[in-house]
Amino acid sequence: MHKPPLAIGIDIGGTNVRAACIDASGQILERLVERTLRDPTALTSRLIALIRALDRPGITAVGIGVPGRVDARRNQVLSGGYVDLSTIPLAEAIERETGKSAFIDNDCNMALVGEIAAGAARDCRHVAMLTIGTGIGGAVVLDGTVMRGQRSAGQLGHVTVDLGGTVCNCGRIGCVETTSSGTALGRHIAAAGLAVGTSADEVLALARSGDARATGVIEAWAVPLRAAIDSIVASVDPELFLLGGGLGATACAALEWAPALSPWYQCPVRPAVLGDDAGVIGAALAGMKDDLFSP
Ligand SMILES: [Zn+2]
Repeated sequence: MHKPPLAIGIDIGGTNVRAACIDASGQILERLVERTLRDPTALTSRLIALIRALDRPGITAVGIGVPGRVDARRNQVLSGGYVDLSTIPLAEAIERETGKSAFIDNDCNMALVGEIAAGAARDCRHVAMLTIGTGIGGAVVLDGTVMRGQRSAGQLGHVTVDLGGTVCNCGRIGCVETTSSGTALGRHIAAAGLAVGTSADEVLALARSGDARATGVIEAWAVPLRAAIDSIVASVDPELFLLGGGLGATACAALEWAPALSPWYQCPVRPAVLGDDAGVIGAALAGMKDDLFSP
């Protein structure tokens, strides 16, 4: 009897590693979550253990979403921030130890694939996405295919929005990651004199009630984000722009204080809907080598 394909999707986040067994429709059959280890060798051992724990008949592939720049055609991590897997042959180790094919891609590419397959961008063929968390990730799907450039296109957190701004992790100045990430929001909150630990949703509620300091914080966070969205829309002309990651929905709401001005670059901006599941769903589907998302 023909069995529908299954695959394991893994999403390596700054805090947690999520792993799940997924069917071809993007449905999660079983999931496991554990803390992310920073040491690449120890982390790889844990990934192998997670794959073994989720294994069942019919699973031949694993997809892994990695934070950082990835050359998906060569199955190679090029660079990483808080978890740097560029120093070890990750795909080879997983294939050798588990006997399954392993496909590696950037975590935001995986999340966008998940949202197109089973989330906010169903039936869309041209979509751009920013994931807003500790940093800002990016991904673009055009004509139903992940945009790759020569190696690792879609690093949209590094769109320049503030030439007089602060130095970014990438070495340049004023990337949108430095103004509109969760880390940046924390900085804006402290600079405005609001209580340390005030959440993004609390700042938003204060701004809605007319609080001037909170409004200033939201503008400092959202206006550069709008500039980045406008630049990306002008560059790739998506039919839909998604904001994902832990702060995606709040950032979407904050854009009320930074409306799109140019009639040329209008594009609906919506929150991603799969939350933490987007990455594992997309990773598993990418691992199955769905034609639409193959490298
Ligand atoms: Zn940068």
